[in-house]
Amino acid sequence: MSAKTETPILAYEIHGNCYLNITSECTLRCQFCPKYNRTWEVQEYDLTLTREPTVDEVLEAIGDPSRYKQIVFCGLGEPTKRFDVLIEIAHEMKRKGMSVRVNTDGLANLVEGHDVTPEMAKVVDELSISLNAQNEEVYNRHTRPRREGAFEAMLDFTKKAKKAGMAVTLSAIDGLEGVDIDQCQRIAEGMGVEFRRRVLDNVG
Ligand code: SF4
Repeated sequence: MSAKTETPILAYEIHGNCYLNITSECTLRCQFCPKYNRTWEVQEYDLTLTREPTVDEVLEAIGDPSRYKQIVFCGLGEPTKRFDVLIEIAHEMKRKGMSVRVNTDGLANLVEGHDVTPEMAKVVDELSISLNAQNEEVYNRHTRPRREGAFEAMLDFTKKAKKAGMAVTLSAIDGLEGVDIDQCQRIAEGMGVEFRRRVLDNVG
């Protein structure tokens, strides 16, 4: 199936889950990101957004959520950059009995200026947080943050998210220059959260 379409893809299916594409904005500028490598395609879905969708547009794109195993906020943008929209959609999905996961850079507290994890925990079951690297130097090299202190802020967010009651997984991409996957795994273990080794360009 060709992914090129006139209509923006707001909801797309991967592994039986419904993925939501609610923004193109990011706090990071990851050098490994498809959008910084001249493509907006993820697994044959063209995730180009000409504008940010409304809550109603996203809900319409989901349709009947019970067809899916889980609702996952994950596009070529950081879902928490549209925090209120994320919360509203997640609330509606929880009301319909769905499990909700957010794939995130873990920088929402830094961006919002306060701890948002208690509010998220009311409507989000799982967080997959991009650890990306075992230290700030390697992290900054690969993710090129727009804000100072991103690495520490992401680790602090991870601790708070766990404390707030969400199931947290840290992830890093195996094979990126300088990234020590074993050390990344030890960081996750030290924080008492899960770890997932990712492969470049595999979304999920
Ligand atoms: S946070 Fe995700 S979407 Fe944003 S630049 Fe990095 S890889 Fe791309």
